[in-house]
Amino acid sequence: MATAPKYAPDIRASFPGLAGDWAYLDTAATAQKPQSVIDAAVRAMGQDYATVHRGVYARSADMTLAFEAAREKVATFMRAASAEEIVFVRGATEAINLIANSWGDQLQPGDRILISALEHHANIVPWQMLAQRRSLKIDVAPLTEDGHIDEPALIALITPQTKLVALAHVSNVLGSVLNVRKIADAAHAKGALLLIDGCQAAPHMPLDMAALDCDFYVWSGHKLYGPTGIGILWARREILAAMPPWQGGGAMIETVTFESTTYAPPPQRFEAGTPHIVGAIALAAAIDFVESIGLAAMAAHEATLVQAAREGLSHIGSVKLFGPANAAGIISFAVEGVHPHDVGTILDEAGVAVRAGHHCAQPLMALLGVPATVRASFGIYNNLRDVERLVEGVRRVTRIFGV
Ligand code: PMP
Repeated sequence: MATAPKYAPDIRASFPGLAGDWAYLDTAATAQKPQSVIDAAVRAMGQDYATVHRGVYARSADMTLAFEAAREKVATFMRAASAEEIVFVRGATEAINLIANSWGDQLQPGDRILISALEHHANIVPWQMLAQRRSLKIDVAPLTEDGHIDEPALIALITPQTKLVALAHVSNVLGSVLNVRKIADAAHAKGALLLIDGCQAAPHMPLDMAALDCDFYVWSGHKLYGPTGIGILWARREILAAMPPWQGGGAMIETVTFESTTYAPPPQRFEAGTPHIVGAIALAAAIDFVESIGLAAMAAHEATLVQAAREGLSHIGSVKLFGPANAAGIISFAVEGVHPHDVGTILDEAGVAVRAGHHCAQPLMALLGVPATVRASFGIYNNLRDVERLVEGVRRVTRIFGV
């Protein structure tokens, strides 16, 4: 297995987006792309291009094979039981909206959905919209002091009325990691299903749907070094089979007359219209890329960087760190008396790209008592020099503001 490089010059060189003298620390928003993914996208859009599933000519048949091979690769990557459990969507946001609109349509007034205080808006707003339509109640599990979902408190909130528990595997603000299996067991014991938002987990840890034992798992390709516009909804085969289609159109039908339509089985039932063919094929290349390094090695490398960054920032008196020490690839912090946007701007001048804002988690910001945080997030191409630049940059902020 490849080992995690402390300084990753070779890996870095294969990312054209990293050219120049800068430290890219915004991988949790979107990862830079390796040349192999860019090449796969260019080939798929160029010499290999044709539609899928419909053509009778060889090029289209080949493209269909490549598209379905990408689905197989995703299934293997997630250790799903079969490729039929993999639905291609635009991203995690679309996946959650699909579940809310399709599976969620059976929910009855008074049914409850349980989320947590650290969820991304993508795992809050679709449930609020559904709750309004179907007169549901939403419960919110609290967090522990160090920024984990409070598991005992969460489990206590699961009642027989709870139909769905929907949680982030890894917080996009705090990097805290959920014990999915424990929550899956607790949810199932009360008859609820478990949806996991794996956006920030898929790029940082090996996935195993059987071991996690959740019911839905969603993620976005662009955070796993793949392109934007392609993401994954995984659900157990029997759950998908019982779900009605969300969008109607071509490719999701068996037969259509003016009187009625019968639908294709999953996953096609949920893939109306011409799919993101190029995106799926480039996502397969991204999976090849991460597997060539190994997710365990990537996780170890990123853990080293998170530890070094926490350690470096902890020596600066005016810095307040949020989240647990063992965060997966992400740290959030504030500099006392300085607006996060100012921190981000000064870091940018020093060639350090971080995110400053509410990170699509406004309820979490309210809980932390801040309008925004600065977030540094790491990928396989980052190294200890990037961490040094971050810490040096934050020291500069404190000098400029005298804090
Ligand atoms: N959930 C989490 C935890 C995320 O970090 C993100 C992306 N910031 C999303 C959902 C939404 O992903 P996308 O915008 O790719 O649909």
